[in-house]
Amino acid sequence: MMQSFIPPNRTLMGPGPSDVPERVLQAMARPTIGHLDPAFGGMMEQLKAMLRDGFMTENQLTFPVSAPGSAGMETCFANLVEPGDEVIVCINGVFGGRMKENVERMGGTAIVVENAWGAPVDPTLVEAAFAANPKVNLLAFVHAETSTGVRSDAKALCEIAHQHDALALVDAVTSLGGIELRVDAWGIDAIYSGSQKCLSCPPGLSPVSFSDAAAKRIAARKTKVRSWFLDLSLVMAYWQGDGARTYHHTAPVNAMYGLHESLLMLHEEGLQNAWARHADMHQLLKTGLEELGLRFVVEEPYRLPQLNAVAFPDSLKDEASIRRELLEVHNLEIGAGLGALAGKVWRIGLMGASASEANVDLCLTALRDVMARHQAI
Ligand SMILES: *Cc1c(COP(=O)(O)O)cnc(C)c1O
Repeated sequence: MMQSFIPPNRTLMGPGPSDVPERVLQAMARPTIGHLDPAFGGMMEQLKAMLRDGFMTENQLTFPVSAPGSAGMETCFANLVEPGDEVIVCINGVFGGRMKENVERMGGTAIVVENAWGAPVDPTLVEAAFAANPKVNLLAFVHAETSTGVRSDAKALCEIAHQHDALALVDAVTSLGGIELRVDAWGIDAIYSGSQKCLSCPPGLSPVSFSDAAAKRIAARKTKVRSWFLDLSLVMAYWQGDGARTYHHTAPVNAMYGLHESLLMLHEEGLQNAWARHADMHQLLKTGLEELGLRFVVEEPYRLPQLNAVAFPDSLKDEASIRRELLEVHNLEIGAGLGALAGKVWRIGLMGASASEANVDLCLTALRDVMARHQAI
């Protein structure tokens, strides 16, 4: 017999989604209203203002794309890349690889700067790529590479791009709300994030923001954006038409209530306090993981507090069965390795509401229990 789906009660400490606070879930359960209702428009204006605060930007062109982080990524590339453009793409993990794929699908040429998985993007290599390719007009990189747990120096990379008259496009899906991120001060021209990582909202929305220089580049395009849905010239008539918003697509109304509530919680906590909480919980987790004999994959200065990649001990043969036990016995989800790190690491997330002492305690207790049963400690 078919019946309602009641999800199990999990603690989410993987690479996203993160734990969603009751407050956000309750906001999403409020009555649906029309997406052109003035009351909805008022809520959206607040949401955009809070997003600007989260990104630390004055950019007018700041709003949530109605789809997950990957759609924010495509929005940036679809609007900023034209056929024939040359783009420097930095790859040090899975998500940089997706950026290259995006550039090519938009008809651009990707000039790849490769760094080892687990290492940050090396600015000297980016500098060399610009020197060798004077036509490049866009630099793309991932600020917080979730596949490896690495933070790259976004400020330094944006400076290099601007020295070469290029714009800087940044993946901040995992960084927004979790670590220092300053869109205006660092000169980021296009940025996308996601609702389900350090914002602790369910998946499905992708905050984006564009500088005036990026908006000007988009307005001066010679060719139409290849995606109708993601074409900012159309989308903006919907999100920005003050008092006269015109229908483009039907916004996911209740999902927006959720993002509004999670941004309100961030606003109440204070952005810098949220960064500090992620850093503190990371220290607590790190001490416990090292006591269990687990080694971090990333060198200390480049580690993301919100995504802890640890190599599991050689004594453990079947890492997947341990993760399954964590889930089945302790209702705890942690992440597996991705791409080149598949089968080699665990990725323990401390994102948003998941960055709490209770979660760190649960994670360490559960790991100790399961690893002891597998005689790994
Ligand atoms: C999760 C993630 C994405 C993709 O976001 P989705 O919401 O899964 O589409 C992109 N980039 C990074 C760095 C991520 O961590």
